[in-house]
Amino acid sequence: MKILLIEDEPKAADYLRQGLAESGYVIEVAHNGTDGLHAAVNGDHHLVILDIMLPGIDGFAVLSALRTAKQVPVLMLTARGQTDDKVRGFGLGADDYLVKPFQFPELLARVRALLRRGQPIPVDPMLRAADLEIDPVRHRATRAGQRIDLSAKEFALLTLLAQKMGEVLSRTQIASLVWDIHFDSDTNVIEVAIRRLRAKIDDPFEEKLIHTVRGVGYVLESRLTP
Ligand code: CA
Repeated sequence: MKILLIEDEPKAADYLRQGLAESGYVIEVAHNGTDGLHAAVNGDHHLVILDIMLPGIDGFAVLSALRTAKQVPVLMLTARGQTDDKVRGFGLGADDYLVKPFQFPELLARVRALLRRGQPIPVDPMLRAADLEIDPVRHRATRAGQRIDLSAKEFALLTLLAQKMGEVLSRTQIASLVWDIHFDSDTNVIEVAIRRLRAKIDDPFEEKLIHTVRGVGYVLESRLTP
């Protein structure tokens, strides 16, 4: 995790740099607003810690210019505890605010919270219908815990049906999405592929998951009420 610290006071900057480095972060320090803004806009930092009182352009000006360029989280630092500073900072798009003097653990807690907030929420990639489980990342399908061997095309077809669970897919849609072929007359390829897939996914099991919608196409769904 890379953090950019924009702070003109050398003692404060060194203290924070050391503490954050010891906590496992990669720190870049800028000692004035101009350099800081340039580094923030052109860098790939996960967080910017921005002092308000800076020589040249101050922290508010840095923040407002930065916000027109990108959405990196910004923690503002100030020696002044006035509410109007806080309001102004948040108005310009600061994500958090810390009043000097502060204890390092307090800063670290804010830093961690902001970096966590920026993390994408992990998405469960598994697709499930009844006891069928498809893992698109590992290219693996199981039903009732049993591994099902599928060819690459069968797996692609099953994944497509599962991603569009409950939605009827026409033969033409399936042909273009799985085989990348565009036709509307010869849909025999799809019928054969569906039959093969059913033989593996549905035939050995009581509950059928792939359903034919006459004249329309196919749908994968569990039709038993839980
Ligand atoms: Ca300062």
